[in-house]
Amino acid sequence: MTKNQIEELQTIFSEKNVLTEIEDMVAYSYDASHVEVQPEAVVFATSTEQVSQLMKLAYREKIPVTPRGQGSGLSGGSVPLKKGIVLCMDRMNRVIDFDPANRLITVEAGMTTADIDPVAVKSNLFYPPDPGSVSFSTIGGNVAENAGGLRGLKYGVTKDYVKMMKVVLPQGDIVTLGNKCVKHVAGFNMEGIFVGSEGLLGIMTEVTLALLPIPEHRESALAIFNSLEGAAQAVSDIIAAGVTPSTMEFMDNATINAIQNFKDCGLPRDGAAVLLIETDGEKNSAMTEMATVEVEVKKNDIREFARAKSSEERDRLFEGRRVALNALASVKPNLILEDATVMRSKLPEMIRGIINIADKYQLQVGIFGHAGDGNLHPTFLIDMQDKDEMARTEKGVAELFQLAIDLEGTISGEHGIGLEKKPFLKDQIGGEGIRLLQNIKKTFDPLNLLNPGKMFDMPDEQSA
Ligand SMILES: Cc1cc2nc3c(=O)[nH]c(=O)nc-3n(C[C@H](O)[C@H](O)[C@H](O)COP(=O)(O)OP(=O)(O)OC[C@H]3O[C@@H](n4cnc5c(N)ncnc54)[C@H](O)[C@@H]3O)c2cc1C
Repeated sequence: MTKNQIEELQTIFSEKNVLTEIEDMVAYSYDASHVEVQPEAVVFATSTEQVSQLMKLAYREKIPVTPRGQGSGLSGGSVPLKKGIVLCMDRMNRVIDFDPANRLITVEAGMTTADIDPVAVKSNLFYPPDPGSVSFSTIGGNVAENAGGLRGLKYGVTKDYVKMMKVVLPQGDIVTLGNKCVKHVAGFNMEGIFVGSEGLLGIMTEVTLALLPIPEHRESALAIFNSLEGAAQAVSDIIAAGVTPSTMEFMDNATINAIQNFKDCGLPRDGAAVLLIETDGEKNSAMTEMATVEVEVKKNDIREFARAKSSEERDRLFEGRRVALNALASVKPNLILEDATVMRSKLPEMIRGIINIADKYQLQVGIFGHAGDGNLHPTFLIDMQDKDEMARTEKGVAELFQLAIDLEGTISGEHGIGLEKKPFLKDQIGGEGIRLLQNIKKTFDPLNLLNPGKMFDMPDEQSA
């Protein structure tokens, strides 16, 4: 970047909020995926107006800009592939308006997800989407990836809670999309197109989210199975029995042992698989639902069904699930975590398929995830320096995505496409689908300057 461009950035953001030294670029060159590209400058926004001025400058000077929340994305979304400027949103982290009467909260997009509940709880409300990264991911990152979480089965995902947003468009215009009303059909569902847009269409600076009343009671239990199939079948049976648990998390034996080695969370090292199940709501209904869950799991290949006797015991089990990824990361030098997702009824087939792929390519795999949503995280534990193992992993991953598509599922349930799954998007949505995405991108961002090179290539772009 030129001296003049950097000085202009310093005028917009102030000198202390602009980084240009090479050694400062490293921390903004990667996310939680495997790609790394250093930007030429990093800026920290504190207002919508600054973001607007940045995009006007970027458009005039043709500089790529990559929005960044906390960089916890698992698909390479906030990696500045075409260099240029990384726009950090995490200092825009204030509550703008808390409106308990309408069960709404408006926050700046850089607010950490977990910071919403301490505000909401004052009026007995909560924000249901809770990705495993809840304590560090931002609301802007959650909306841009349509993040899911442990409560997705009953409460849905981020898209189900987004009501309204302020967005800076690539050429610097500021627009407000959506509405605070329960119903709103004035124009296209424009806030909807920003959910899952992965920072390609505009920069969200404020988001209004719906909140729900905190359930009166919850019942938690751990079901320990002798086989993976037993656990998978139990998921289908519980749903078929008419129960919708708030949480139904799956962990296989490899994941259980990785967690126990990492931190003792009270999980059974010899279980083939476990389901961590929670029902919630009015007390009698939560208890009745858990009683039905017990009946259904006991029809399958179960070894033990243990109810959590205290909130400490419950929290310990949930912590085990939340540290699963970190625990698996400590087994081998690297891991490749996927989020191929199928309908719940296809879960047994999907799990069998994953095991077959791992066997075929001699790969070590740990499987965990939001089984109630059909959203598994098969995690290949590898050493990226081992070229032969990498080649086998790439083949295994490609087969895994094909399996998900063949089972009418999706290559991504919640982590997005970014760079990691870009080569596979056409298999999922077809050439026409890609062309539609390209046309939408071109309408918003004719010079392709906002997060370029992600999700799909533009017609005149080289593949990343
Ligand atoms: C341990 C761990 C557990 C995880 N568990 C889950 C889980 O359970 N469920 C789940 O869905 N994900 C999970 N993730 C993935 C990740 O946390 C989510 O994708 C999260 O939404 C990313 O938020 P972020 O603030 O870190 O965004 P980043 O990674 O910084 O950015 C993600 C994308 O959003 C764009 N973006 C960021 N802010 C804005 C903005 N204001 N406007 C426009 N675009 C923007 C970026 O350009 C990028 O494309 C997990 C990750 C880790 C490391």
